[in-house]
Amino acid sequence: MDKSPGSQRFQDEGQYLFQFLDLIHVQCPGCHEDAVVRRDPGNQGSRATFSCLHCARSYASSTEHWFGPLHGFANNRCRKCREWLRRELMPTERHRTHINLDCSSCGVQTPSPAVWTPRNDGTRDPDFGLPLWLQTPCCGETLWATNKRHLAFLRNFVEATLRERKPNINSSLISRLPKWIKSAKNRSSLLVGLARLESRVVW
Ligand SMILES: [Zn+2]
Ligand SMILES: [Zn+2]
Repeated sequence: MDKSPGSQRFQDEGQYLFQFLDLIHVQCPGCHEDAVVRRDPGNQGSRATFSCLHCARSYASSTEHWFGPLHGFANNRCRKCREWLRRELMPTERHRTHINLDCSSCGVQTPSPAVWTPRNDGTRDPDFGLPLWLQTPCCGETLWATNKRHLAFLRNFVEATLRERKPNINSSLISRLPKWIKSAKNRSSLLVGLARLESRVVW
C-alpha cells in the first residue's frame, strides 16, 4: 500500500490500519462531497475503486488517478563530463516528462527523465491520494479515521481508558496509536473531536 517515503503514516500504522482500509470515506475530486474508496486489503494485487454517489464519478486505481501531491526529481550523468546531476522538481513542472539538467562543472545541459512519485501526508487515502472525509483538527494534530468502524474503535479506546478499566480491544492495535491519542490529558478534546467526526459519517 505504500507509495513513497512520504506516505509514512500509512506505512507505520499499516498493521493497525489494515482492517480499516476496506472502505475509506474521501472527498470527491469532482464535486467535493463525500465519496468512497473500496479495496480488498487481504488481496495485495487487487485494485481499489473510487465512487461518488453525488456526481457518479468512478475510477479504478492507477497512476493516472493519483490526486495527491507528487514528489519529482531528475537525475542523470552529465553527457560531457560524466558528473552526477540531480535536481528536485517544482510542482509547476508536474506536466514535464523530461528536464534539462545544467552541469555546474562544465555548463553542458543533459536531458533527463522526470520521475514523479506520489506523496501521502497521512490524511489521504493510499490509492488515489484523496483527502480523508473524516478528519478534524484536534489537540494540535489531525484526528482522522477511514470509516465508521475505525471511529468506533477510537471511541472505544478513549472511553475505555476514561473508565480506568482494561480496554476490551486489541492491545496490539492500541500500541500502534499515536502518543497524543493515548495521552490522558487529551481525553476530553479527543471525545469532542470524535463526536465531530461521527456527525460527518453519512452511513
Ligand atoms: Zn462527486
Ligand atoms: Zn558536465
